Amino acid sequence: MRKKILLIEDEEGLVMTLTHRLQAEGYEVASAGDGDLGLERGRSESFDLILLDLMLPGRPGFEVCRELRQAQIATPIMMLTARDQLLDKVVGFKLGADDYLTKPFEMAELLARLEALLRRSQPNPALLHGESRFGEVEVQWDSGEVRRAGAAVSLSAREFRLLQYLVQNRNKIVSRQQLLHEVWGYSAQTSTRTVDVHIAWLRQKLEPAPRFPRYIHTVHGQGYKFIA
Ligand code: CA
Repeated sequence: MRKKILLIEDEEGLVMTLTHRLQAEGYEVASAGDGDLGLERGRSESFDLILLDLMLPGRPGFEVCRELRQAQIATPIMMLTARDQLLDKVVGFKLGADDYLTKPFEMAELLARLEALLRRSQPNPALLHGESRFGEVEVQWDSGEVRRAGAAVSLSAREFRLLQYLVQNRNKIVSRQQLLHEVWGYSAQTSTRTVDVHIAWLRQKLEPAPRFPRYIHTVHGQGYKFIA
């Protein structure tokens, strides 16, 4: 399962260098050249990690970070800051960033920190093997491939893990707390709304009519239930 990274950065040279290097390391990379576009993509798509520059045209990085957290996006965020920028780390962490890196940085340092952050936010390894099918959807658990009506569907690692947990527990009610614990692995700062946001994304990608789910059901006041 390729991890998806959103790079919100306005320096074109750095975007190119980072994109090439991260792709070479096996990551899928999307980028946004200003704060508004970055916020938009971060809110509407699911990523496994966000690299966020502090000084951006449009909306500054701190604001993007705060808005993402307010929208219940719990994706790990690593902030990139220039060395001469006076940075209040305490404020940054309060806004919800998970780590910082000062420019210019060594690529090896970035990769190491990024992996550490991804590891920290990735709890349990895959438990399902083989293939599952429901409706037009086909999932290969080992390779991470998902298809709908034969066409490839791109899920983030988190969406994939969420789907996996739901399918593993099919026909059982799973609570939001349980999902946070099992799929996110860190429950302290993450609100259960985060779960709802990701469920909505999964339904968009997999359900024939996302507003009237056939597979991923809401059980009012209790959580979710996968029925195939
Ligand atoms: Ca910048």
